[in-house]
Amino acid sequence: MYKLFADYHTHTVWSHGKGSVQDNVNAAMAAGLETLGISDHAPGHLFYGVRDMQGYMDAIHTQQQICAGKLRLLAGIELNLTGMHGQYDLPAQYRDQFDFVIMGFHKGARPADFTSFFEYYIARSISGSSKRLKVKATDAYIAALMKKEITILSHPGYAINIDKVEVAKACLEAGTLFEINTSHTGLEAAEIVDIAKTGVKFLVSSDAHVPDRIAQVDVALQKAIAAGLSEKEIINIRRKD
Ligand SMILES: [Zn+2]
Ligand SMILES: [Zn+2]
Repeated sequence: MYKLFADYHTHTVWSHGKGSVQDNVNAAMAAGLETLGISDHAPGHLFYGVRDMQGYMDAIHTQQQICAGKLRLLAGIELNLTGMHGQYDLPAQYRDQFDFVIMGFHKGARPADFTSFFEYYIARSISGSSKRLKVKATDAYIAALMKKEITILSHPGYAINIDKVEVAKACLEAGTLFEINTSHTGLEAAEIVDIAKTGVKFLVSSDAHVPDRIAQVDVALQKAIAAGLSEKEIINIRRKD
């Protein structure tokens, strides 16, 4: 009953995806998408951040020429939250070249400072669900959002415990979309009901790391529908005629 027309969250071989930009483009067209976002992991990730930013941007721009008129291809990046004061690893010299910016917490990101290293990796492993750490992580997310550079907040709550309603309020204020991610869950339908009450807008994403998974958002969409959301709240779906 719903059709996905844009998948903004996909990875390629430039970080740790399996397909090339061209493979993702072909898969998106085969799936009938109108818009595809490439959003590989930012360089601050120790193990799978993009190492050659210029090559990455060039590969996307080349494909944009090739698929012009058939698919709207967007150049994005998935940033890592790297510090307790809302730091993230947006590559400064490319700041103005991205069509959109995603940000989320990922294990394996290079911490911005020693305190953040301690909070993220030591304190978290000792007491990952402590109230104090949850408040700190929530504040870190809010500080990051308030810089108003983030288009999409990826998989909120995945791998880190946060107050999702408070974070959603910050998303609303910043004009950031709240993602319902198919690959990384950690967000239940009952929570989505409360989050939606803030008025924040959502999107559903595949977070595909292989081309075949592009536009596969069933898990996310089912949860969203179970929570009572529709195309009014989810920006990248529309009703099938
Ligand atoms: Zn991610
Ligand atoms: Zn991702």
